[in-house]
Amino acid sequence: MNERIVELDEGWLQVKVPLPYSLKWVNAYVLPEAGGRWTVIDPGLRLEETEAFWEEVARSRSLAWDRVANIVVTHHHPDHYGLAGWFQERTGAPVWMSPVALDNANRLWGDGETFSDELTAAFLRHGLDDRLEQPMRMHLGGFRDKVSPRPSGVRLITPGETFAMGGVEWEVHGGEGHAPGHLLFYDRPSGRLLAGDQALPDITPNVGWMPGGDPDPLLSFLDSLRRLRALEASQVFPGHRAPYARFRERIDEIVDHHARRLKKMAELIGDREPTAFEVCEWTFGTRLRDNTHNLRFALAETIAHLVRMEAEGKLARFERTAASGETIVRWRLQENG
Ligand SMILES: [Zn+2]
Repeated sequence: MNERIVELDEGWLQVKVPLPYSLKWVNAYVLPEAGGRWTVIDPGLRLEETEAFWEEVARSRSLAWDRVANIVVTHHHPDHYGLAGWFQERTGAPVWMSPVALDNANRLWGDGETFSDELTAAFLRHGLDDRLEQPMRMHLGGFRDKVSPRPSGVRLITPGETFAMGGVEWEVHGGEGHAPGHLLFYDRPSGRLLAGDQALPDITPNVGWMPGGDPDPLLSFLDSLRRLRALEASQVFPGHRAPYARFRERIDEIVDHHARRLKKMAELIGDREPTAFEVCEWTFGTRLRDNTHNLRFALAETIAHLVRMEAEGKLARFERTAASGETIVRWRLQENG
């Protein structure tokens, strides 16, 4: 247990909440409040294992369940938001999110959701192998349990406001591209930035296209990073991996990474007319077929890059009707692009 809890300055705890994915864990942060109360940021994915984990964290650190002041969610992804409702039931504390994140959580997991079908259909149009349709559907449907119970009476935090927690009046900043309505919390005097997944060390945040979502998420992501780069963040507390200091350098690296990836994908396309799924396999490898979770992110990331090049006039899409009657989207480089 102790290797999963890192004591930070000011009595903060970095709690590495286990994840059953290649990311291994998500960082929850526990911030002490006056009177023995505490705030939790991004409690994690809901699994029996993570519920038991938190019971053990609370016991070992003498965190009283009836003293939770706030449950704060930086963005709606299941590995951050999943346990928010469980925490709320356990403690009666309010859950805080951005209005856009709340809308997205409702769209993805609300009653009668159609998102799993829409995303699977969009992936098939983008060339996903038919044999992967059923695994993809099951993968997407499998998240429902991992975000249940869903929090009720969610309170809203909007970028541009301030938010008080852990004895600090935080500036609230917004980030886009990784997750719509992503929140970051910045303490100007100390240079501390709670960054969620907007800027991660060692790994680049996933930037994925989704039907009915941001039409150009990579543009939004890069624009957000350029804007956030103005913050003089000297201690960054990310949603995955370890806290880090070199915020601007890391942003520059992430921006460069996407510039290189765009170039690489254009080279791979060359004079061929591939689907996004083909570009995805050329870029990330065919082994992803055995890992639907990673394939889903890789394909969404590939489409995000293709639509970016389309908006830049470097790439054009066209549709072709297959023998089965299905319409498949293909891409070709533009001569003057
Ligand atoms: Zn995320």
